[in-house]
Amino acid sequence: MTDNFNIREDAEFSNDKEFEQKLRPLTFNDFSGQDKIVENLKVFVAAAKMRLEALDHVLLHGPPGLGKTTLSNIIANELGVGFKLTSGPVLDKPGDLAGLLTNLEANDVLFIDEIHRLNPVVEEYLYSAMEDFRIDIMIDKGPSARSVQLSLNPFTLIGATTRSGLLTSPLRARFGINSHLEYYDAETLKKIIKRSAGILKVPITDDAAHEISSRSRGTPRISNALLRRVRDFAQVKGDGQIDLAIAKYSLEALNIDTYGLDQMDNKILSTIIDKFKGGPVGLTTIATAVGEDSGTLEEVYEPFLIMEGFIKRTPRGREATEKAYLHLGKIPSGNQGRLF
Ligand code: ADP
Repeated sequence: MTDNFNIREDAEFSNDKEFEQKLRPLTFNDFSGQDKIVENLKVFVAAAKMRLEALDHVLLHGPPGLGKTTLSNIIANELGVGFKLTSGPVLDKPGDLAGLLTNLEANDVLFIDEIHRLNPVVEEYLYSAMEDFRIDIMIDKGPSARSVQLSLNPFTLIGATTRSGLLTSPLRARFGINSHLEYYDAETLKKIIKRSAGILKVPITDDAAHEISSRSRGTPRISNALLRRVRDFAQVKGDGQIDLAIAKYSLEALNIDTYGLDQMDNKILSTIIDKFKGGPVGLTTIATAVGEDSGTLEEVYEPFLIMEGFIKRTPRGREATEKAYLHLGKIPSGNQGRLF
């Protein structure tokens, strides 16, 4: 087991927002993967443009770093409308929301990240805004308090969440378009890495891009963060070009797991294996043992581990697979010292 955990944090909380911005695709054509979602969105965007109407409200859900913000930006660009960005926890009071909504121009996109973290009072206000493009706000306090109705320009709300299970049903019901982003396969990530390398003007070989992609945990944000680190190694330890040798050398030096698993992934696997004899074990039991919320485990961590074949979902709970044992260098009990 390796301690490769900081790259994901580094990627997510990177203070160099400029770097992410630079690599962010601006059109559907530059956005790789998520083919079905993109195909559908292209149709909906084209139809809304033809009718000169606002696009229906869109809900994008899926694990962090898969392109929800990027896709929202692209939708606004392709619609040729303005884009305003905020997030659930920032919208503290109804007044904050009213301020944003009244400043939108016709058919603009309002992007609310982490929409599952909206204050319930603010969420109530959002209902009428989404449905009828109007908002009732209270002005004054005490006896002179009264409600004033404001009409809004038609707009598109794009909500993004990593935890769609936490969304209330009235809110969920108000989104006409609802899409789930999946983890990316290595081939698509390779394409993204080559595109990013091109923008950064750093030469990269095909096998090096493949090596980085296979250690990216299915996540473009991690691919870009790894590329950035490998680029440093190539500059300092090599001649600036990223080939397979320098990619492998850097990824080893950074302690990046061969499958791109992070600390929590490995903790989940070793918990199932060491504490529960490889399973089957219930999700909530695993969640308690690793100290994580069971919803986050189910929506953020587990899908990747299942996709890559490290755990299996069975009617009696989760089971670690042979691949998980091999990856952690463990021997299944009952195998009398033999590895399978
Ligand atoms: P999310 O909002 O889902 O957390 P982001 O949209 O912020 O993820 O994406 C993180 C980074 O990954 C962005 O800087 C973007 O450059 C890159 N990225 C994400 N999806 C893609 C994609 N499909 N093609 C190219 N780059 C992508």
